[in-house]
Amino acid sequence: MFRRLMTFDEAKKVIDEQLKLKPLGAEEISLLEAYNRVLAEDVVATLDIPPFNRSTVDGYAVKAADTFGAEENQPVQLRICGSVSVGEPPKITVNPGEAAEIVTGAPIPEGADAVVMVEDTDRDGDLLRVYRAVTRDENVMKKGADIKKGETALKAGQVLGASEIGVLAALGFAKAKVFKAPVVAVLSTGAEVTEPGKPLPPGKIYDINAYSLSTAVRESGGKPLYLGVIPDDKAALRTALERALASADMVVTSGGVSVGPKDLTPQTVAALGEPGLLVCGIAVKPGKPTTIALVGEKPVFALPGHPASTLLMFHLLVRPVIQLMSGRTAREDRAVKALAATRMFSAKGRRTFVMVKLKHDELKRLVAVPVETGASGAITTLAKADGFVEIPENQQFIDSDEEVTVTLLKSTLLL
Ligand code: AMP
Ligand code: MG
Repeated sequence: MFRRLMTFDEAKKVIDEQLKLKPLGAEEISLLEAYNRVLAEDVVATLDIPPFNRSTVDGYAVKAADTFGAEENQPVQLRICGSVSVGEPPKITVNPGEAAEIVTGAPIPEGADAVVMVEDTDRDGDLLRVYRAVTRDENVMKKGADIKKGETALKAGQVLGASEIGVLAALGFAKAKVFKAPVVAVLSTGAEVTEPGKPLPPGKIYDINAYSLSTAVRESGGKPLYLGVIPDDKAALRTALERALASADMVVTSGGVSVGPKDLTPQTVAALGEPGLLVCGIAVKPGKPTTIALVGEKPVFALPGHPASTLLMFHLLVRPVIQLMSGRTAREDRAVKALAATRMFSAKGRRTFVMVKLKHDELKRLVAVPVETGASGAITTLAKADGFVEIPENQQFIDSDEEVTVTLLKSTLLL
């Protein structure tokens, strides 16, 4: 099969222009299912949060003016007129010279405008001594102080995490309107590839890619659909790909894209339907044989078999596609500046991605140390790497001590 390698930028442009990416539509789901989904509409508060003035401490609801002048050695005396519990409207009114026992979270009763902390009082039957003055609204969370009725509490496009889901619950919503998560079929290929959990016959290896890719799909906002390991057989591969296209919004395969006699993925993908192949190899290292097709409106990404290459290509090319389809705005990756620990060489004429680990040197400077890639088949390459350094096509190497930009692969990295 004839191949003209596209540059990395050309391949990105083809993806942007040909895939016509947009969110897949919206659905209503339960808050408990909403983690990592994207809001499809603004959320406007239909009530004040908190819905009433409430105490933030355990103590006594009072008129602040009644406590003025109270000091450690000169307490003010008030009469206890009753108590307020959580979860019900107060049944009492606090008149001048009175105090009502109150607990954290309970509504402030009529007449009171502040709460004295229990630690600043002592009590003798109905008599309360207050040893510290409070100002108006002290220890009171006012109605609507958190969220005001009519306010836009969350915006369309926000990704739902623990705190956003908490806001929805505070407002009384049991469901959220979110963009549909694209279903991404994940296929592995190769006669040597065996599913984990089964015995490993001689000459075989366990399937890494289906698991690392499925997890990467989830991290990007998609729903992985694992369709198993397909042997290097054209008919079996075609059947599996057709099944994948029928049940998913896009397909990601790994392996079988090189130029060996068993590398059947590109020709099989090419024959699946119009418009067909868009990218047939990219001038990058690693990841050169990466193949991309469009069948109807569904993208098919055929990634290389080497686990580190496949995951890097996923990160660079597939992740942004899933992000857009799931309603996310494809954001720039986080990056940091560091000094190259050693000279880093590029592959001639190809955009080269050097996996690096970040460390502090003796002078506390951040340095980027290349991760041994001896065999790009190693999954540990990516597991050890904090990010990558990009060397442009026209540059031969980056010199030791040169400042480089490290694109971070792990968002949770602490520097
Ligand atoms: P291929 O592109 O099919 O020739 O695969 C390249 C290398 O990656 C070979 O060493 C394969 O055994 C390995 N490989 C392919 N698929 C997987 C997979 N799903 N998990 C782990 N290694 C794989
Ligand atoms: Mg193979």
